Amino acid sequence: MSADCLFCRIARGEFSTEFLLETDNLAAFRDINPQAPTHILVIPKKHIESLADLQAEDQGLAGELLLAVKELAEREGLSAGYRVVVNTGQDGGQSVGHLHFHLLGGRALQWPPG
Ligand code: AMP
Repeated sequence: MSADCLFCRIARGEFSTEFLLETDNLAAFRDINPQAPTHILVIPKKHIESLADLQAEDQGLAGELLLAVKELAEREGLSAGYRVVVNTGQDGGQSVGHLHFHLLGGRALQWPPG
């Protein structure tokens, strides 16, 4: 955990954020600025700066995160499909320095992204 990281603080429950899913290792909550009818963020509770900082020891955690995304997509009824985005670093458009998976769905999404 990092004291002043926004998503670490959310994971600690400092903002009373409603968790759609929570385990010992991860939490999921709705994006504050949704880009689709469903826009959920899935984060590890452990502070990992970005996908580029994921280590071999995080293999199990990475699997848990992806399975949580899939479970949430099912719960949200996204049977027509959805997109999972992990913005990484400056060119990837990452604005919060704590690994997070965006789950986007509920409308037809365009490709390629900007
Ligand atoms: P990224 O740009 O990929 O780093 O994504 C960061 C995401 O966090 C953006 O989609 C923001 O809208 C979202 N976000 C920022 N602050 C909060 C917050 N307090 N609660 C929920 N989502 C947030």
